[in-house]
Amino acid sequence: MSAVRVAILSVGDELVLGQIEDTNASWLARALRGGGALPGERRTIGDDRATLARAMRELAANHTAIIVTGGLGPTLDGLTREALCDLVDGADAALVEDPAGVAHLARWFEARGRPMPSSNLRQALRPPSARLLANPHGTATGLQASPIEGSCEVFCLPGPPNEMRPMFESFVVPAVRSADSVVATAALHTIGLGESSVGELLGELMARGREPSVGTTASDGIVSIRLRAT
Ligand code: ATP
Repeated sequence: MSAVRVAILSVGDELVLGQIEDTNASWLARALRGGGALPGERRTIGDDRATLARAMRELAANHTAIIVTGGLGPTLDGLTREALCDLVDGADAALVEDPAGVAHLARWFEARGRPMPSSNLRQALRPPSARLLANPHGTATGLQASPIEGSCEVFCLPGPPNEMRPMFESFVVPAVRSADSVVATAALHTIGLGESSVGELLGELMARGREPSVGTTASDGIVSIRLRAT
């Protein structure tokens, strides 16, 4: 039984420009492995609708699921909804307002005694064939949908880690968890040998496509041998 392959797509100009660290991607990769799923590919994309839709389409071709984080805010640079719509309903489709999303926003602002800025209603929009994912900790509801072709499931979650993490546990984990597979990793650290010498000693064990996979990394004079078995 092979593990479910999951792509992680982080969205935001501030990530591409290095203004904030992409802690979501590394947290998600660790959490996926813990649940027996295999993080397949990670990408970081700026706030550009066409690039984002293209990245989703490419990743959907060879992953069972894609987790997108960020780009669900109320301002015009939040383009994840639109890109998902291009992918799952086609570029001619228009976003639709979801009454459950509007109700969530109304409750959110009422509970804080603040009037809702009308721009927030953008966050109640979804592609026609997507469903909303409840966000108990923020205004940005998530989205889940499948591309027109293929069998990939796309989950769009808000960027703030305190909102993203519980939604990952509630909606993504049940969908990608595998009862039949476990991804186990281990690291062996060596000192006194260069990376090429370690590679020669490991020989064919490092050939691509082997199970378990074996890789090396070098840092500060320590060559680490990294093993991964599914
Ligand atoms: P919001 O409604 O909060 O705007 P959003 O989905 O639009 O939700 P973004 O605007 O993309 O989220 O990001 C909001 C904040 O979340 C960022 O300023 C940053 O602090 C955090 N964030 C976004 N993406 C990541 C990431 N990949 N890793 C860590 N933090 C992130």
